[in-house]
Amino acid sequence: MKTIGLLGGMSWESTAEYYRLANELVRERLGGLHSADCVIRSVDFAEIERLQGAGEWEAAGLILASEARALEAAGAELVVLCTNTMHKVAPAIEAAASVPFVHIAETTASAVLSQCLTTVGLLATRFTMEESFYRDRLAARGITAVVPDDADRAIVHRIIYDELCLGIIRDESRAEYQRIMAGLVAQGVEGMIYGCTEIELLVGPGDTTVPVFPTTRLHIEAAVALALA
Ligand code: GLU
Repeated sequence: MKTIGLLGGMSWESTAEYYRLANELVRERLGGLHSADCVIRSVDFAEIERLQGAGEWEAAGLILASEARALEAAGAELVVLCTNTMHKVAPAIEAAASVPFVHIAETTASAVLSQCLTTVGLLATRFTMEESFYRDRLAARGITAVVPDDADRAIVHRIIYDELCLGIIRDESRAEYQRIMAGLVAQGVEGMIYGCTEIELLVGPGDTTVPVFPTTRLHIEAAVALALA
């Protein structure tokens, strides 16, 4: 089994989920007391969020590239960046690491295509919903990502940063996500990408009428498959 390097802390609420799922998936595959061989670098999210807000993506990329090298020095044989949003700086990380980088948009795209879908809703941070770094990656695989309108994007984004990244799970927020997803389904989307690694802490497959693509689970599933290949 290869050593998985988790580059997390963004937020730690979802990194804990990555760690739990990695161990569960390895136990499912190998049985007995087997668990995931992994190393974790968990950054202080307040600093990363400050850089996001200031638009200082290059500085954030330098930090995460250096963390990826630290993971590699600690024995990581593949790198998993535990956030969709920070894949905006994936090129800097990929350039710094000499081990495989498991790109979350690629693992998500593969899952969508495996169900023969091409038009999906995308719920995520404003960065992921509005900028090109993620949607273009899906488009390159033939997938159209439909996002909520501006007012609803603000709600989805606020709930991520003010609640989910702080471990706050509210029924009212789940109802808001359900309402927003119903709107996207009415527009014709055939599936729903939970494109922020904390979203699956709030909503699951039962919260919309179309198939869901939980990016945390799909990402770590791909990493574990690679580690055990
Ligand atoms: N974990 C989130 C994501 O998947 C948002 C936090 C961040 O900005 O990294 O996008």
